[in-house]
Amino acid sequence: MRSESLSFLQDIVNAPSPSGYEERAAHVYRTYTSSFADKVTTDIHGSVAAILNPGAEMKIMLAGHMDEIGFIVHYISDDGLLYFGGIGGHDSVVPVGQRVWIHGKERVPGVIGRKAIHLLDDDERKKKPELKDLWIDIGASTRAEVEAVIQLGDVVTYQVEFQKLMGDRATARGFDNKMGSFIVAETLRLLQEDGGLHPSVGVYAVATVQEEIGLRGARTSSYSIAAQSGLAVDVNHAIDYPGVSKTRYGSLDVGKGPSVMRGANANPIVFRMICDAAKEDGIPFQVDVTPGGTGTDGNAMQINRGGMAVGILGVALRYMHTPCEVLSLVDVEDCARLMAAYCRRVMPDTDFTPRLGL
Ligand SMILES: [Zn+2]
Repeated sequence: MRSESLSFLQDIVNAPSPSGYEERAAHVYRTYTSSFADKVTTDIHGSVAAILNPGAEMKIMLAGHMDEIGFIVHYISDDGLLYFGGIGGHDSVVPVGQRVWIHGKERVPGVIGRKAIHLLDDDERKKKPELKDLWIDIGASTRAEVEAVIQLGDVVTYQVEFQKLMGDRATARGFDNKMGSFIVAETLRLLQEDGGLHPSVGVYAVATVQEEIGLRGARTSSYSIAAQSGLAVDVNHAIDYPGVSKTRYGSLDVGKGPSVMRGANANPIVFRMICDAAKEDGIPFQVDVTPGGTGTDGNAMQINRGGMAVGILGVALRYMHTPCEVLSLVDVEDCARLMAAYCRRVMPDTDFTPRLGL
């Protein structure tokens, strides 16, 4: 991966952006895309669109959400401890013992506490802790000390940043789905630098907000942009580690290329165009099958207005919604190449209507 792209990926992944508090990631996205997009806009919901050919009638919307899961402070006790709720889906075994940042007026360090193992009753040891049993300790002894630096509604993220692992693998918190925002930005850059996009086709690469709490940014962006076709990209569960069944979930391996979803949430013509583009351009891919609506921005996009012809791409990810999500950087780059290859094949008169005889 070229070094400017790698630093953009690191910056956006490291920027704290729990749903509803995406401004820091949005700033990183705007700064990076401004150097190659024809136009960059931020809507009142907070989503950022980087655009090529903004005047074109045929439009493609690319969506990669930039919010991440996190926590929100909802109570401060008299003895200076912070109680919190989850933003997005958490496995409550993960927070125990983690260091966190509370994003108040300043960034305040803290730890997530729980009774020590020695002090747990037998039945407490057997059961999984719940978020309501945990607290954040910033070292304060009174509520007043806390309130000097933290307010109710401040958000919390783990003190974990991007790190490269062996080979092409990397780990981070918030690859879900800031690697998606990265991919849509890189797609736009590839189209701008390498060309091939029809001059009468516009591409809107959107870093959407609030996906983790119900695809809320994709809904408003889809409405405003009103594109005929769109691609959503998100992380996808790798089915390549112990304890997950290929017969139950299908196979999806880290490092074997982006996934392309087939099922009701994908327009059949878009699906075929993506697969043809991958074959013609020699980009590896894996087919992922989902029978109904997916949990991605592609779901909100598809049922926007009178309908959008949607394709859904994914990058295989291990340990989703933990601070140590793992993926392949080559998959990430290939996914951007594949999205660009799709965009180059959309013509001003492409008909996405599902029909027989194709
Ligand atoms: Zn997620």
